[in-house]
Amino acid sequence: MNVLSNPWLPFRTREETIVYRSPSALADPDIIDLALPRADFQGAAYQFLLGLVQTALPPQDHGDWLDRFIEPPSIAELEADFAPFVAAFELDGEGPRFMQDLDPLEDVKDTTVSGLLIDAPGANGVKNNTDFFVKRGRVDAMCEDCAAIALFTMQINAPAGGAGIRVGLRGGGPLTTLIMPETIEASLWSRLWLNMLTPKTSTRQGQSWQAPRADDDTLFFWMAPTRVSDKKGTQVLPEQVHPLHPYWSMPRRFRLLFEDTPCRCDLCGRGSERSVRRIRAKKQGANYDGPWLHPLTPYRRDPKKPNEPPLSSKGQPGGLGYRHWPNLVLSDPDNSGALPAAVVQDYVANKVTIVDEERRAGEAIESLLKHARLWVFGFDLDQMKPRGWYSVEMPLVAVPPAQQDRLRDWVQRFGSLAMETAKTLRGQIKRAWLGTAVEARGDIGYLDMQFYEATEAAFYRSLAGMRDVLTAGHDRYDPALAQEWYQTLRTQALALFDANVLAGPLDELDMERLISARQYLLFWLLGGGKKRGPVATFAAQSGFELTSASAGNKKEQANG
Ligand SMILES: [Zn+2]
Repeated sequence: MNVLSNPWLPFRTREETIVYRSPSALADPDIIDLALPRADFQGAAYQFLLGLVQTALPPQDHGDWLDRFIEPPSIAELEADFAPFVAAFELDGEGPRFMQDLDPLEDVKDTTVSGLLIDAPGANGVKNNTDFFVKRGRVDAMCEDCAAIALFTMQINAPAGGAGIRVGLRGGGPLTTLIMPETIEASLWSRLWLNMLTPKTSTRQGQSWQAPRADDDTLFFWMAPTRVSDKKGTQVLPEQVHPLHPYWSMPRRFRLLFEDTPCRCDLCGRGSERSVRRIRAKKQGANYDGPWLHPLTPYRRDPKKPNEPPLSSKGQPGGLGYRHWPNLVLSDPDNSGALPAAVVQDYVANKVTIVDEERRAGEAIESLLKHARLWVFGFDLDQMKPRGWYSVEMPLVAVPPAQQDRLRDWVQRFGSLAMETAKTLRGQIKRAWLGTAVEARGDIGYLDMQFYEATEAAFYRSLAGMRDVLTAGHDRYDPALAQEWYQTLRTQALALFDANVLAGPLDELDMERLISARQYLLFWLLGGGKKRGPVATFAAQSGFELTSASAGNKKEQANG
């Protein structure tokens, strides 16, 4: 099987059917999405196609990028662009095999094919809404198609596996951020092409750009004997490889054992003439080290330690929400250390700008670009063990580059008020439940999650308001924008206090304690406190009067 020319990927058509076709189907205007049987496979298949297009036909500059955004290649043109790479994408056979060791690994004992899967524990997965398995239970046999994407998913996400079992290039369970068009009818081509980088943007210090070739073993490691990492000094550093290698990273040594026996695939449920039940796996594959920056992943550097390599962002317990938005979108290397993914930085800094400048694309393209979304996904791993899988979409706001710093300041201002409110709310709920003397037992992080969820829509409304102010060229927002945000936080904090505190059996409640906690919360929300608190500071910075704003809320006070 060849993963470049065989019809192995499930695509979703405009008519909502699923068709299995070869990767060149991504240029078909009738194809709007992928449709893999698992959420982690879906994320990986996107990265597979992105890597393929990025490798076979990278846009030479942003003008070239815009041309092909407006006018995609035909399927035949795309096939011609892919043709020189076919030899690097054989999944089985005697020669080099896609994402597998060149050595047949006959010296190791074979093991079950389920070793290719990064699996989430059942109960926890359901609780976190991460129940992405089509079929639960044992995986004994896979069709070739599922085996191919399982292998790729493992290589790009590889968790730390203990001594000699190498972790992925961006660490175990990295987050991936992709730019997506707002409209759900957008073609798969536009979904992918929004994330393409020019050779100049892809090439980092110490690397040199060469036109990608199928036999380049600094691009595709499986084309040569594995860079075994059994000794000191065998680490793989960014300057030793092709700039596009991060798309094709291969930390693990695997061989798939194909059988000419039919199976019903335990992942996709289809019948298959050939099957994969066993694999060989060996330790000490490529050991990635040094300052890697994967173009699809956000990182964080420590401004106080400029020589330390940046750390990739990972999935975390507590999920992903608007409190993560600034670091995923707004570059801030010198203060918070946030380094959004290169595709996000390039979109915000270059792609939006070129459309603005050229204005030749017409309204449709312009609005497609202006109203993009950010798709964020990845595993939440606890060392080797997955706790869950996250996949969320957020609005993506792009403002002129000169206004970026101001947007960041405002977003931080709004975000930090939410954070302080969440903290005070959590503290007072605890106090109402337990009094001041007792330490809360158990996990109360869900209180924060409730609060952030309840205020999320309002945050993104505020964000759109900020964008409008900045793109209109103003340097101050209307105080009403901030006042609305503040009022949402206040209303939701009080509502969640009541909902949580009164949810328990009433006869166990200490009413005096409850009333005192609620009064303090309200006092705090109205800007009270010994020194000027976060609420008063926010109101002063934003130019609205706290007293007059709150005077009309007799109801809230009466409730307290
Ligand atoms: Zn299958």
